[in-house]
Amino acid sequence: MSDWKKHNTTLKILRFAQEGQYGVLSTIAYTLDHVIAMIRAAENKNSPLIIQMFPWVISHSNGDLVKCASMLAKKAKVPVAIHLDHCQDPAIVKLAAEKLPFDSIMVDMSHYEKADNLARTKELVQLCNKYHKATEAEPGRIEGGEDGICDTTELEGILTTPEEAELFLETGIDILSPAFGNLHGNYPSAGPNLRFDILETLAPKVEEKNALLCLHGTNDFTPKLIHENISFKMSKINVNKLVLDTHLKYFEENASKLPLTDLLDKSNDLLVERLEYWMDVFGSSGKA
Ligand SMILES: [Zn+2]
Repeated sequence: MSDWKKHNTTLKILRFAQEGQYGVLSTIAYTLDHVIAMIRAAENKNSPLIIQMFPWVISHSNGDLVKCASMLAKKAKVPVAIHLDHCQDPAIVKLAAEKLPFDSIMVDMSHYEKADNLARTKELVQLCNKYHKATEAEPGRIEGGEDGICDTTELEGILTTPEEAELFLETGIDILSPAFGNLHGNYPSAGPNLRFDILETLAPKVEEKNALLCLHGTNDFTPKLIHENISFKMSKINVNKLVLDTHLKYFEENASKLPLTDLLDKSNDLLVERLEYWMDVFGSSGKA
């Protein structure tokens, strides 16, 4: 393993989690307020944390939000990494790797066909590594969309095969995001239908290569389902709605009724509360 990988914050956080069999919240932040609440929750719970952002944040803030988040992460009393999630444009991967203080980048070429996905991923992993950014990739294709990323509903979801996972691991990626029935956005009313047999095959191969697993698409997940995933050494667990739901609902219902200061204080308290709850469920509380 290269020396920088031993000290990379995202990888350090996840290796401890993989070893200790707990999950780390990888929380989508859309605003600086979210970043502040997320770090507060992690410090309250003495939990490691990964804060992730969509490429939208880069264009929205000209990259400044990433710089602020990285500064706050470094100041935090617990390990906090900053990750770029679902970077689907090679030019933005390049910009993020060269110019922005991310600890890790998800190189998401899953909207391309298999061979193209693999070739583009390989090239971009090398580029990211040159700037000491750890990488994540998605063999197969997770269906659906979330606020801030391209919707792939028009494209067919493709489950990750063991052969494909192996080829991706050979490109040098550090974190593998399998498609095993998980979806972006909300699940149908029957709930998620996950293929744990796929995880069972993949998990040992991933560990053998010193790589880590990431779970996407956790809207509507129950604590039981989270625990099942962690039992397959899923260490990076992306959360969006699970932690932002009460915060956003409060905002929506009270935006025109309260002074802005009260609205921001109360909605962020709700976010901290939800984060702390899930840190306990994930087992990361007390692990910083
Ligand atoms: Zn995702």
